[in-house]
Amino acid sequence: MRRPAWLRLPPLLLVAAALAAWSAPGSAAVTAPLAQRLAGPAAAPATTSCDPTASLRPAGRPQVTPGSFMAKIRARGYLIAGVDQNTYHFGYLNPLDGKIEGFDIDMLHAVAAAIFGDPSKVVYKAISDAQRIPAIQSGAVDIVAHTMTINCARMQQVDFSTVYYDAGQRVLVQAGSPVRSINDLGGKKVCATTGSTSIANIKAAPAHPIPVAVRYWTDCLVLLQQGQVAAISTDDSILAGLAAQDPWTRMVGPRFTSEPYGLAISKQHPDFVRFVNAVLARLRSDGQWAASYAHWVGTPVPAPPPARYRG
Ligand code: GLU
Repeated sequence: MRRPAWLRLPPLLLVAAALAAWSAPGSAAVTAPLAQRLAGPAAAPATTSCDPTASLRPAGRPQVTPGSFMAKIRARGYLIAGVDQNTYHFGYLNPLDGKIEGFDIDMLHAVAAAIFGDPSKVVYKAISDAQRIPAIQSGAVDIVAHTMTINCARMQQVDFSTVYYDAGQRVLVQAGSPVRSINDLGGKKVCATTGSTSIANIKAAPAHPIPVAVRYWTDCLVLLQQGQVAAISTDDSILAGLAAQDPWTRMVGPRFTSEPYGLAISKQHPDFVRFVNAVLARLRSDGQWAASYAHWVGTPVPAPPPARYRG
């Protein structure tokens, strides 16, 4: 299929986000039945020197104990969260109402509800992929919810919650492209963001694609639309959102990595990691996780990733 001439221009809605923009709390609803696009063969587990899917055990129900980091957040009056504002259905600034929304954002609403009794008490700091770890380490944000894969290298630098979403890396191409998987992209330009696991996975692909690094996923979409890259390769969760924004694209090939998402928190605050894990345990069991999945990803809804604990 050939893209109409007007669609070969970068769409206005895909303008890259301003750095570190602050946004008002809140969320809005957009229906998004995309689960069928996400279906793909299960990925082989990554070889690791640690267990990235195990996190700190919660101490019962989420409780704001005196002297805890949660008590400090409560005294401040709002949670500060590092998020994406360019990833449709996960962390996305909805231009219709100016609110940031998505599956990642729902996780933050639940954390805020557990601290304040009010899910809207969140101040969002929009950050790029490369800013996620520095934002946590500097204390600029309390928590990062940003389609962030838990892995051993990152666990040296920050702590993570239990897994709240299981993604896997795939490939997005223009409709009509002969490319069927990452194996067809040898010597071809493939786009991903700086600081993502995706760009490292492209570099490591046996077919030897040429990695092209940009700041935001929507920047990759513009390059694909302009024919400057042959493909985008990242998590299927993110690619499904790009495909929904541009119907002249197709997700192809199987998952070739495993990308378990966690909420990132400073190593200074293990009490907050345990608290957030208590919140996630509640979301898994009371149906909220399933409701968020159905709303942002679609149906059928799988079982939530099980909580695994160490220590
Ligand atoms: N999940 C991958 C990562 O954490 C890719 C998605 C992203 O960078 O936002 O690096």
